[in-house]
Amino acid sequence: MKFEEEFDVVIVGAGPAGLKCGVELAKNGIKTLIVDRKQQIGSPKRCGEGLSERWFKFLDIKISKDWVKQKITGVVVYSPNKKYIEIDTEKIGRIGYIIERQQFEKRLAEEAVRRGAKIMLKTNVIDLIKENGYVKGVVAKYFNETIKIRSKIVVAADGVDSRIPRIAGINTAMNPYEFASGFQYEMANVALYNPNYIEIYFSSRYAPGGYVWIFPKGEDVANVGLGVRNAKKSAKYYLDLFIKENWEKFKNSSPIEINAGVVPVTKPVDKLISNGLVIVGDSARMAHPLHGGGIGISLEAATIASEVIKEAIVSKDYSEKFLKKFEEKWYETRGKELLKAYRFRRFLERLNDEQLNTLADIFIDDPKLILDIVHGRKIETFLKLITQKAPKLLKFAASLLKT
Ligand SMILES: Cc1cc2nc3c(=O)[nH]c(=O)nc-3n(C[C@H](O)[C@H](O)[C@H](O)COP(=O)(O)OP(=O)(O)OC[C@H]3O[C@@H](n4cnc5c(N)ncnc54)[C@H](O)[C@@H]3O)c2cc1C
Repeated sequence: MKFEEEFDVVIVGAGPAGLKCGVELAKNGIKTLIVDRKQQIGSPKRCGEGLSERWFKFLDIKISKDWVKQKITGVVVYSPNKKYIEIDTEKIGRIGYIIERQQFEKRLAEEAVRRGAKIMLKTNVIDLIKENGYVKGVVAKYFNETIKIRSKIVVAADGVDSRIPRIAGINTAMNPYEFASGFQYEMANVALYNPNYIEIYFSSRYAPGGYVWIFPKGEDVANVGLGVRNAKKSAKYYLDLFIKENWEKFKNSSPIEINAGVVPVTKPVDKLISNGLVIVGDSARMAHPLHGGGIGISLEAATIASEVIKEAIVSKDYSEKFLKKFEEKWYETRGKELLKAYRFRRFLERLNDEQLNTLADIFIDDPKLILDIVHGRKIETFLKLITQKAPKLLKFAASLLKT
């Protein structure tokens, strides 16, 4: 179905970032169109489906068994030598969920439509309408037809393989080494460590430049996947090797779904706006540089963006200068933390398996510190600890001191 009239805002991409932006704008009476080149929202799934509870405050959809599959109350982290650290995250007030991503996105889409947004599927944006230095809408292929849709602002929520910012002249190119290739089986009848705990494995044998995850979706169903960077073989090769060499867990199980995709585990782009354009989510490289999670960050960024876009529409000012408020607010709220996490990732990737084992021994005494560091906190405490317990690692840690 086609909507050819003029809109206040056209959002390119109906993933978590675009859909959430659509919900927020439409509920404030802003005439919004969300377009996606796919024919089905939420599919194909490219996701481990982990979502921390703290992001739920950004959702306007009813929490139900339909899209929330499993409560997660802890994590067990394995070092290369198979020593493990178990953290009861519920005890420290952090719980998470494994969701059914396709249903989750569909519920978000339904909410956007209920609030007044329109959605067009099979609509591949191939160019931007530009006038007097401003983005003024999109040119798209709708099935086989080329159409133009005008708007005051375009939101680029077009994910990891985004092209829209580049068409507008914003450089979002990344070093290929900063993309993590992900491969995952959703598997049934897995022998889980604990159905309420996620399992994380660090090892250059199984996941060079990344990690293996087991995210339970029930008592014995789980997403078993990994992300690798700069690896000699394919992500599938490493996952099959991990499964083969950890056969006790998988000997009675079998895949029920295969998922593959790419995550931008880099630092966010510096420039998130231009005249008539706002960039959110993976398109702006907002996924977490350490663990690759990007759903929650996208929901938050879309919320912040929609507040500024609403003000821009009211003020009739779509200039880069006005929209810069979004960039500033987002960097203050989340961007700075992601930059710190990026530096920590750069530190980790310089360590070999033996050094990672040493690091794991440090964390065994204070497992909560892992969570703090992931969120860009307590870097000084961590540096003090390695000065005392593993001074040889200090030479790799200089980048962590940058503000
Ligand atoms: C293997 C894997 C596992 C992951 N696991 C997790 C996890 O467990 N938890 C987590 O939080 N995150 C996870 N992520 C990351 C997460 O999936 C992303 O960060 C998140 O999807 C970003 O949302 P987004 O809306 O920015 O982009 P996307 O979800 O990618 O949505 C972008 C949309 O834009 C559309 N689009 C692109 N170009 C165009 C165009 N030209 N015209 C029209 N439409 C277009 C696409 O079809 C797509 O629907 C994982 C990623 C991968 C690959």
